[in-house]
Amino acid sequence: MTTSIVDYFISLVKIDSESKNEKLIAEKLKHDLEELGAKVEIDNSAERIGSNTGNIIAYFDGEISKKPIMFCAHMDTVKPGNGIKPQIKEDRIITDGTTILGSDDKSGIAEIIWAIKELKEENEKTAPFEILFTVCEEIGLLGAKNVDPKKFKSEIGFALDSHKVGEITNQAPYQNSMKFTIFGKEAHAGVEPEKGINAIKIAAVAISNMKIGRIDDETTCNIGIIEGGKATNIVPNKVVIKAEVRSHNLEKLENVTKRMKSAFDKAAKLYNSSIEAIIVREYNAFKIEKNNIVVELAKNAADNLNIKFKTVIGGGGSDANILNLKGMEMVIAGSGMSAVHTVEEYILIKELEDGAKWVKEIIKIYSKQQ
Ligand SMILES: [Zn+2]
Repeated sequence: MTTSIVDYFISLVKIDSESKNEKLIAEKLKHDLEELGAKVEIDNSAERIGSNTGNIIAYFDGEISKKPIMFCAHMDTVKPGNGIKPQIKEDRIITDGTTILGSDDKSGIAEIIWAIKELKEENEKTAPFEILFTVCEEIGLLGAKNVDPKKFKSEIGFALDSHKVGEITNQAPYQNSMKFTIFGKEAHAGVEPEKGINAIKIAAVAISNMKIGRIDDETTCNIGIIEGGKATNIVPNKVVIKAEVRSHNLEKLENVTKRMKSAFDKAAKLYNSSIEAIIVREYNAFKIEKNNIVVELAKNAADNLNIKFKTVIGGGGSDANILNLKGMEMVIAGSGMSAVHTVEEYILIKELEDGAKWVKEIIKIYSKQQ
């Protein structure tokens, strides 16, 4: 292993690992975790997910007899994530501007590994802990959805997968994803347009009657993709629209979902056509109270390190949504990533170092608690 967390982080982001292609990084991490003394397993989810590897699950026995705690991060990145050329510029690590950096979520991975490495070097006696490095988080939390919760003994945990070190996301929303197909009728647009039904027109009517964006302080929705039509001289017979709704409140989630569907229904009826709607619950919300042990651990550790602690309400889904559903109390912890999912992505070196210190301190405090 390298001599600094910066070098370690850089070595990780140089390994291509867009979703479904995490095999190389999984092999590297398995090797590093074993070197640190863990029992490491790559689970059998690869085939179900369609990735070239499964999730990594690592167990550190610890010297203190206690229930383990879990640290989680994801191995995959979004696109464009191949051939990343990280560069150190003053106080931060950036890219050459042609790719993402992959600090989402290799900052989390590097900080977890580095914390363990230092604990081992310092011969610190600790409680047991478990590590979960997932695949395909970015394309629907697939690794977390396909991991067998019976493999874990932890009841509490941290997913390092967010912005500022010291911030804990203790609440995250529900999400529905939706696919609407509007069926029109094809006709020659110049010869007999009156025989056609224009699916694009129906979509436009439906969407213009819909409130999208921020609905209220706990609910958002978006139309993200619209596809349809073949040529300017053909009345289009089909449009496919993909959309999502997120809310911290289940009733609001369902109401907005229904409203969007009914806007398409009404518009279709107006033009004597039909629609098909496919609605999928991507993940459920979670909320962990601020006096929960997992939040307090994070706060006490941040306080000890003079890192500013804050709880925040998340707007997105993460592996934590799924693991909470599987019976774990897991919050999302900031790992320092910035401007993620863009080619301007960067991480401050101080954040990377603080993230590792934070994980280390959490393990130390947890290990000493009765
Ligand atoms: Zn992430």
